[in-house]
Parts: sequence; C-alpha cells; structure tokens
Amino acid sequence: MEQIRCKELALSSLFCSTIYSEIEEVGWEHLVRLGEDLTFLSFRILDKNERSRILEIQVDETYPKNPPSVSADLPHMFNLTWSIKSRLKDVVYQFRQHLGKLQEFWYTLDCIDQSLWVVDPKQAHHATSHPLINIGNDCQLMLFIDPVDPTSLPECRFIGSDPKVNSLRQIWKRNCKRWMKNKPLAENLAITLEIQLPGPPDVQKNDQQVECGICYAQCLPVDDELGAKSGSGTDYTCDNGNCSRAFHSLCLGDWLRSITTTRQSFDVLFGNCPYCSEPVAVKINSKK
Ligand SMILES: [Zn+2]
Ligand SMILES: [Zn+2]
Repeated sequence: MEQIRCKELALSSLFCSTIYSEIEEVGWEHLVRLGEDLTFLSFRILDKNERSRILEIQVDETYPKNPPSVSADLPHMFNLTWSIKSRLKDVVYQFRQHLGKLQEFWYTLDCIDQSLWVVDPKQAHHATSHPLINIGNDCQLMLFIDPVDPTSLPECRFIGSDPKVNSLRQIWKRNCKRWMKNKPLAENLAITLEIQLPGPPDVQKNDQQVECGICYAQCLPVDDELGAKSGSGTDYTCDNGNCSRAFHSLCLGDWLRSITTTRQSFDVLFGNCPYCSEPVAVKINSKK
C-alpha cells in the first residue's frame, strides 16, 4: 500500500521508505498527523507531567541532507542540531530535552494559576509566558515570565487607571530588590507590591463537563444501530490539558469526516479538536 501511494504521489520510494522507517523508530503511537506527501509530520510527546506537547516537523525531498524545520506551541523553540546521519528520532529526542528544560517554567505558570486570579486562564495557557492576573482595586497585571529563568523577577505591565498604575509602578520599582528567587512567585509579588493579592475564583473546577462537545448530550441515544455504544457516555477527551473537552468518539468521528482536511489511516481519523484545534486522533468503526 505504501508503495502504491508513493507512486501515485511521484515521490521517490527511497524518500518514502526513509520517512516511514523513521516514524517507526519514533513510534506510530506518537504520530498525530502525516501530510499526504509525507513532508509534514506532527508527533505528540508527553512531557514529564504527562501533558501532551505537539511537535511539528517539515521535511523536503532533500531530507535528510538538509535538516527538517521544527515548530511547536512553546514559549521558545530549541535550535536543532543536525547532521547527515540524524534521524527523526533525534529531533524528538532534542524536543524532549527541551521540554525538560521548560518544566520549571510550566511549574511556575501552574503555581500562578493555583494561587492567583488569572484572567481567562484558558486563553492564557496557549504557550504564552505572560499570564494576566487581577490584583484587586480594578487593576490587572501582566507578568512576563522568562521561560529560561522563570523564578527571576518578571517584567510587569500594569493595567488600570493612570493614578493607580503609576503608584503601583513606583512601589514595584522601589521594592524589586526584595524579590527572592527561592520564594513562591505569589509571595514575591505580594511583598514587592505591598498588597494582598486575590486568589483564584473557585468557580470552574466543580462542573466538570461530561456532556459531549458536539451533541451536547451526556449519553448517546439508546439505539440498536449504535451497537455497543447505544446509550453510552462520552468516551473521548481532548488530549490538550487546557481544553480537555469530552466527546462521544462517534460524534467526533462524524464531525471529523465532515471536515475536508481530516485524514484517515486505516481505522483512525486524524483531525483537529473542534474547540481548541489541537490534533486529535479517533478510532472509528470500519463498517459504515
Ligand atoms: Zn455526542
Ligand atoms: Zn481540544
């Protein structure tokens, strides 16, 4: 089948077999998307906190002579080290190393989420290193956390009325020497700003969404045609930890099939989450 496909696409079979065997080395279970001409690949890699991170790789026919280009939704990217002998698994290895270095940064962001009032946390999470937090008194503070040195004094942008912002800036300037790298960020902020900071509003957590993000029902209808799935609850959750939207795999499969960019490989559909656009892969029943 692979050979037929290569012929159809007029790709060199050497290129095809190289790509296929290198995907094999990384592990097919990590592959979430594969471009039709095999020049675009994306892999899902779990970081040390079991969060999925997507690595996108673009190659051309000169591969592996020329290095692939890599991208990911991260605060900053690594510089790929490449030689003619390098393979996709080396790209993935370097990506993992890089994720390891970002753990402290993500840990800092998690602490901010848990101890401060982050405005629109869902939005804030998309790789940005500058969460916006409510600091009370109708003011907000945008923190620019350095991904390389997340515990250091962050750059700040205060948002609010001029007099309030000006006084906050002065206090900040006066106190920034009091910032201690070994203290939790929330405590440092409180000390540096000489204010008590409001914690996160406790609204979200309790209402875990269990209804399907597509049909909005918790359970599928009871229907013999659905076989084992008749009346069942959601059985697929978006892997993106900041989305975690639940779906019936049946609904998601139907939805993906209606999207022209969806790709199918055997009985797995590769597409994007309707909510967050991160890659999703759903196993479908092969019978129509
Ligand atoms: Zn559904
Ligand atoms: Zn999602």
